[in-house]
Amino acid sequence: MKYCRFEEDGGAAWGLVEERAGEMWITARLDSPWKQMPGAALADPLRLREARLLPPVTPTKIICVGRNYRDHAKELGNEVPAEPLLFLKPPSSLLGAGGVVRMPKVSARVDYEGELAVVIGRRIRRMSVGEDIQPCIHGVTVANDVTARDLQKKDGQWTRAKGFDSFCPVGPVVDTDVTAAAIAAGVAVETRVNGELRQHGSTADFLFSLPELLAYITAAITLEPGDLLLTGTPAGVGPVNVGDEVAVSVAGVGTLRNSFAAEEK
Ligand code: MG
Repeated sequence: MKYCRFEEDGGAAWGLVEERAGEMWITARLDSPWKQMPGAALADPLRLREARLLPPVTPTKIICVGRNYRDHAKELGNEVPAEPLLFLKPPSSLLGAGGVVRMPKVSARVDYEGELAVVIGRRIRRMSVGEDIQPCIHGVTVANDVTARDLQKKDGQWTRAKGFDSFCPVGPVVDTDVTAAAIAAGVAVETRVNGELRQHGSTADFLFSLPELLAYITAAITLEPGDLLLTGTPAGVGPVNVGDEVAVSVAGVGTLRNSFAAEEK
């Protein structure tokens, strides 16, 4: 099933999302994303694209993998890493589908990075590579790992470059039917800027598989239900300008659209 989180009567609600005649609708409320039981049906179903969407996740942490596609590592002139390269984005960087990414004045180059993101389904600590990871995966969503590329180089570490408010757009939905096997077999990840295709990758080309990533991460960090794992971006990253719209699509899951604007005063 697919679900979203949206603003309703000044608060936040979880919504069941269903396709009807080629369009996505919020058809019912969910009491929680963990009980996959629809609550009360909406008297008037709401078009997903007309809803005020919030990030469909409330993670304790957002853990990200850098350079997990060979072609992307090479395009920035970097070596292919021998081990997964991890970093964090703060939960304060989350932004819903349709939200506006604010480009900080202190950066002269802000890049998009379209990514498949995994929503963790249970507490995971010290997982081994051979274990069945399916129970650990609650679902999949779409993310844009927005990056101030110049600050990433200047700072030497990535906290500021990856961590500005609004630099982690996520959504519009979580799809709980995407399996670990499907991700291993290959799910297409595409990014368009103002409608023009810029990234077209497949999760079949991960340098480190999802089982390898979960084992590597949880050797150090306990993952909690609802935590978000951004799995890396394929080749084709590039800068955005004020006024651009970036659309990241994960096949079968959905398309995350955000506009980019100058920093607010
Ligand atoms: Mg990234």
